[in-house]
Amino acid sequence: MKVLKFGGTSVGTKDSIKAVLNIVKASYERGEKPLVVFSAMEGVTNLLMQMAENSAQGISNEESLGFLQTKHFDIVKNLLPVKKQNPVLTKLKLLFNELEDLFSSVETLKELSPQSKDLILSYGERCCAYMLSKIAETYFENSMYIDARNVIKTDSNFGNASVDQRATETLISSLKQSYGHKVLFVTGFIGSNDAGRTTTLGRGGSDYTAALFASILEAKVIEIWTDVNGIHTADPRIVKKAFPLKDLSYTEAMELSYFGAKVIYPPTMIPAFTKKIPIHIKNTFEPETAGTCIQHTSGHSDLPIKGISSISEISLINLSGSGMIGETGFSGRLFALLAKAHINVILITQSSSEHSITFAISPEDAEKAMMLIEKEFELELTANKLYPPELEGDLSVLAIVGENMKRTTGVSGKLFRALGRNGVNVRAIAQGSSEYNISVIIAKKDLAKALNTVHDAFFAELTKTLNVFVVGLGNIGKTLLAQIENQYEFLLEQNNIDIKLVGLANTKKMRIDEAGIDIGSWGGELNEKGHPSDLSAFVQKMGEMNLPNCVFVDNTASPVPTTYYVDIFRNNISIVTCNKIANSASYKNYKLLKDTAKEHGVEFYYETNAGAGLPIIRVLKDLMLSGDEIVKIEAILSGTISYIFNNFQGEVSFHDVVKKAQESGFTEPDPRDDLGGVDFMRKMLILGRDAGYPLEESDVDLGAILPESCLKADSVETFYTSLLEEADYFENMKNKAEAENKVIRYIGSLENGKVKISIQYVDQSHPFYALSGSDNIISFTTKRYKDTPLVVKGPGAGAEVTAAGVFADLVNVGAR
Ligand code: ADP
Ligand code: ASP
Ligand code: MG
Repeated sequence: MKVLKFGGTSVGTKDSIKAVLNIVKASYERGEKPLVVFSAMEGVTNLLMQMAENSAQGISNEESLGFLQTKHFDIVKNLLPVKKQNPVLTKLKLLFNELEDLFSSVETLKELSPQSKDLILSYGERCCAYMLSKIAETYFENSMYIDARNVIKTDSNFGNASVDQRATETLISSLKQSYGHKVLFVTGFIGSNDAGRTTTLGRGGSDYTAALFASILEAKVIEIWTDVNGIHTADPRIVKKAFPLKDLSYTEAMELSYFGAKVIYPPTMIPAFTKKIPIHIKNTFEPETAGTCIQHTSGHSDLPIKGISSISEISLINLSGSGMIGETGFSGRLFALLAKAHINVILITQSSSEHSITFAISPEDAEKAMMLIEKEFELELTANKLYPPELEGDLSVLAIVGENMKRTTGVSGKLFRALGRNGVNVRAIAQGSSEYNISVIIAKKDLAKALNTVHDAFFAELTKTLNVFVVGLGNIGKTLLAQIENQYEFLLEQNNIDIKLVGLANTKKMRIDEAGIDIGSWGGELNEKGHPSDLSAFVQKMGEMNLPNCVFVDNTASPVPTTYYVDIFRNNISIVTCNKIANSASYKNYKLLKDTAKEHGVEFYYETNAGAGLPIIRVLKDLMLSGDEIVKIEAILSGTISYIFNNFQGEVSFHDVVKKAQESGFTEPDPRDDLGGVDFMRKMLILGRDAGYPLEESDVDLGAILPESCLKADSVETFYTSLLEEADYFENMKNKAEAENKVIRYIGSLENGKVKISIQYVDQSHPFYALSGSDNIISFTTKRYKDTPLVVKGPGAGAEVTAAGVFADLVNVGAR
């Protein structure tokens, strides 16, 4: 025989109930002799609990009662033929009337005992199993409703009763003898004590009911039917990349579910374990999928852990004081005290000095525990041998679980690295002596982020999701998004990097969507669903979302986003930018950015601050990291100026070359922004700082290309006129170059910590002589590259190459 159990998630709607009955029918027809255990309909236990508490406070439940009744009646009316409905509706109505009476008694007494609460909760399972047994008659003959209170005997610990094995065994065996030929539809979760009062087996207890029946009746297997494809590597509602596990040992399943994986209720494992009955976790909505099989031994796996589990809300109590040192029996006294009050201790850590002991409990038990401790240790407290106990809330536990942990080194290192890099502070650590589990206590607000990063870290062959926020949607921003779209599949398949666009903003509109913005239609989405832009709100939201592996991409040339960089780093978010403003402002600011990023373990990549996509900053960084010393850097880092001087030859005038450069999109809207040399100066400043010099703008010796009058012009138009007026000045430069067989170059240099940018006339022997179009070139003379400098050369301007550089930085963040 087989025991099937259907959870609330499987009996929420008429369609799911149809699916359930088809599964039972198929099993029956295969001759598996199923016995079926049911939970209450989805959400009903929680609602009944809420209603009971309302009554105790004198709040009426009329509306909720109506809702509950309709919820059940609708199922009957939809799934039973009209002529069969009446007796079922009448019986249900009777049950709801009883329930109404119960609520009004509680309301009158204004008191809700655990005993009354259990009785109230039992209606959820009773209505559901009864109703389904009747609907099942239209699927196959022989279904029969069983109220488990008649066969499961328990003690009187209402709310979490323990089963009297012997009495229950006798009753269940005789039930089976009398009705062995029927398909029994049994209520989960409930039992009764000696005096026949209704008890419950703890939240999620229907699984336990199933396991009890299975062990007593020696079932071949227990099937737990729910709404997911088995036990996942982590809670699939929080970790989207969690995947179902094929096999788990009882111990692993116990460790995983003890800490929260709701799918299965931990005590379930005990009866199954002792009788070695396998437990299959299956999905009612995808019955063909294999699901998870829990049995004696765990299936082979190369991964160091099986899964990650968590409890989202716990409280910590810390006890410390000299009175604890060497005091045998102290912790015995403490934990006996808690056990007697039925307070479940989730985990314990004790410092090696024995000076303090910290333990985690459920927040509902916190106040009671504090009170009990203060009473029990009154003497020690007054004698100052013990400090007053400290209570801390808003915490969560995250635990990694797996039998392989015992055989693998570096597991905890990996865990802590993943948490540290994402700024998750660990409050306490506990490792079970079994070594099947390492638990950490963290702030509740960090839980979702922590689960996701730890999942990424341990299931490394899986994809890593980069949560990306893009600011600036001009030329570069647009091109970047197009490049990401084109490369998306490649990155996913080859590099296991999944780029998820979570936020977008330009000066007009912004949009943030945690589910991800479709990269193919971001423009439409921003227009239709975007809000008016507010960068401060954008940055704040980014922090609040607390997502793992976040990157902020600044594609603007505006100072505004740069004012948020430090805050962004403090939220453990990496930054990738082509914006030079932050790095070229004061040295103090540059240093603060670097230090903050480092302190928070996040990346700050700005390769495109010099030479667009050319690897310049990266090369410099690698040289420095490998212990090389920069002797001299020489560079042409303005694509615009390169273009202008490369074309200023022969008959053409300087005016015409600048005009053409502007028309071809090689200049800023005001060409003086390029020709004034400020942009070049910023690049040299950044390189100089990266080479280790604390340079300020005033340290740069910036030689002019243009005569005074051109720089002073009050508009772009008059600027062009001034170029015509100064034609002789430029012709002289050109003639001088041609006479000497040289070319004009605007070259930046860094030597002995001094930065100079100036016009130079260079001949064929100079490495910068042959430079075409808008190319950039940089040569590094270092201790190692002394005789022949290391030269990087190539296109150093344009949206396409700049966006490609930003993209490369982004991928580098992902690869870290
Ligand atoms: P049922 O009503 O079937 O008893 P539960 O709510 O008790 O269902 O458990 C199923 C839910 O448990 C799933 O919907 C899933 O969201 C959640 N869950 C939490 N952790 C895990 C995990 N590690 N694997 C699978 N499901 C999990
Ligand atoms: N209905 C009960 C609960 O919600 C028991 C169960 O679902 O297993 O806790
Ligand atoms: Mg459950």
